[in-house]
Amino acid sequence: MEKVIVVLSGGLDSTTCMAIARAAGKEIYPLTFAYGQKHTVELEAARQVASYYGVSGRHKIINLEGLLSGSALTDADKEIPTGRSISEIGRVIPSTYVPARNIVFLALALAQAEPLDARAIYLGVNALDFSGYPDCRPEFISAFQEVINKGTAAGVEGHGIRIETPLIHLTKAEIIKTGIKLGAPYHLSYSCYQGSVPSCGTCDACLLRLKGFQEAGVTDPIPYRNKG
Ligand SMILES: [Zn+2]
Repeated sequence: MEKVIVVLSGGLDSTTCMAIARAAGKEIYPLTFAYGQKHTVELEAARQVASYYGVSGRHKIINLEGLLSGSALTDADKEIPTGRSISEIGRVIPSTYVPARNIVFLALALAQAEPLDARAIYLGVNALDFSGYPDCRPEFISAFQEVINKGTAAGVEGHGIRIETPLIHLTKAEIIKTGIKLGAPYHLSYSCYQGSVPSCGTCDACLLRLKGFQEAGVTDPIPYRNKG
């Protein structure tokens, strides 16, 4: 059985990646980052998703608190945008962009993967219906794949570690349909940037998630304070 790292935030996309890795018969090592995000509720969601897949014992949560900043997701003095239109989301890089987040996450996932002899890192980025983050685009992923190939023993010895981004070209609705087919536990997932319970329903993450469920023709199983 091939060992793989799944970067698990506890959100919809990474929960779908868990379902995809499980369906592909992989031995999953979930990896979650506590990076000082205001929505720490997602850490609990990540724990629950890992537990749902019976891999809590292999679930690692890395504490990066205080190391990432400069984002509305981390800084107390920056407000999380709400009530934006879907066409507005993704047009420019939003204040919820976290400098170097996926660069740091992938580097640390790699540091876990190589000694484990894991052969892939699953990352739930998607370039459609996304928030406009530069580190979610295919160009970034292929550049980082080059870093892995050139900068690790595994890569140089020819059995490099793949970055798997199964969602990268899917819309949110397609992601949700895929996850539902595979039995992804969306009722345990959490996406809201505000960290509120029930979810706010008005931040970019809630808006994209709700739009995805609506387009997929499925009811989102988690509660919202406001459903637009
Ligand atoms: Zn929200």
